[in-house]
Amino acid sequence: MRKHPERGGACVQCGECCKKVRITSVTSHIISNHGSLEEAKSYYALRGIRIVEVVQAADRVLLEIDIPCSQLMPDKSCGLHGTPDKKPLICHKYPWFKDDVESCGYTFE
Ligand code: SF4
Ligand code: SF4
Repeated sequence: MRKHPERGGACVQCGECCKKVRITSVTSHIISNHGSLEEAKSYYALRGIRIVEVVQAADRVLLEIDIPCSQLMPDKSCGLHGTPDKKPLICHKYPWFKDDVESCGYTFE
């Protein structure tokens, strides 16, 4: 299991991480259905779905789609902020590794 690095900084409410959804899938199932990851990539690309990470050892693929969260407000705030029982767990945890969002206010050792 990967060790989580030390996180510093804070959310600057840029809203970038709320503009797309990421879904974890199983590499072997994808290859079984599509023949290869490259075939799956071509198929997904026609619908705007990207494969952004492949972890062979864990048989895991990370898919990304540009679908903004319905709770992302025009001022980039979260409509569920302050309601921990409604806000998804993953939103509380994000980010736990350095991600590709340049405007993110979090830093990692
Ligand atoms: S629930 Fe809030 S923090 Fe989570 S993705 Fe939606 S807008 Fe962002
Ligand atoms: S990308 Fe980082 S700074 Fe921007 S909203 Fe998400 S957690 Fe906050």
